[in-house]
Amino acid sequence: MLNYRNTNIFFALSIVITLLLLYFFDISWWWSLLWLIPYQLMIAYGSATIRANFFLKSYIKGNTSLPQVAITFDDGPNEKYTPILLDLLEKHQVKATFFCIGKHIDKYPEIVKRMHQKGHIIGNHSYSHSYFFDFFPKNKVIKELQLTNNKIFELINQKPLFFRPPYGVTNPPIAKAVKHLGLYAIGWSIRSFDTKVKDEEKLWQNIAKFTSGDVLLFHDTNSLTIKIVERLILEVKKRQMEIVNLDKILQLNAYA
Ligand SMILES: [Zn+2]
Repeated sequence: MLNYRNTNIFFALSIVITLLLLYFFDISWWWSLLWLIPYQLMIAYGSATIRANFFLKSYIKGNTSLPQVAITFDDGPNEKYTPILLDLLEKHQVKATFFCIGKHIDKYPEIVKRMHQKGHIIGNHSYSHSYFFDFFPKNKVIKELQLTNNKIFELINQKPLFFRPPYGVTNPPIAKAVKHLGLYAIGWSIRSFDTKVKDEEKLWQNIAKFTSGDVLLFHDTNSLTIKIVERLILEVKKRQMEIVNLDKILQLNAYA
């Protein structure tokens, strides 16, 4: 399997072979550096691709034998858009998972309470969502995740087990922190790119391919998302499928 451990073993062996070649044959030592490029490329790929399960196991898709999909929203709670989205979900009786940022929870605790009261799942999306999150050492990652989980616990009296890494990036410190805290790393199988795509049709094309077991990624931070989510809800019904929540589609407990 292509993961961090096996990559390290493979490249360690490669270095040993290169050193042996350097010892027995008259070749330039520059050859030993040749391994660094593919190694760095592998690490970069593993970090950026949560579905690769490179550093840790991530849950990206549910049971594909049932006509069900799940929807998830990152980066909230948002003062303006989350309440509108909650109204929409209530109108259609759809449950979703919200991966909240700790510092936003501090600002809008009432919205988090409302999410919970309406039967949605609250997940952890770090405290700071810092641009440098991927460079944090293990202990700092642990602190962020614990802090956010404690904030959520204060509001809903339950401790989240679902964690979605900011930017979907994983690395050894994040992997160790997730393991240390006994959390589940949650990815996605369909990314809407709703923070980048501003054209409704183009955005729809990104998600229209949904099929059984898919976990869709949105952000409750803009108005186009709300529009596209309503379209999705109607299309799911049309295809005689249903939207279930993440714990059901992944068959995992959302809280400890
Ligand atoms: Zn995010």
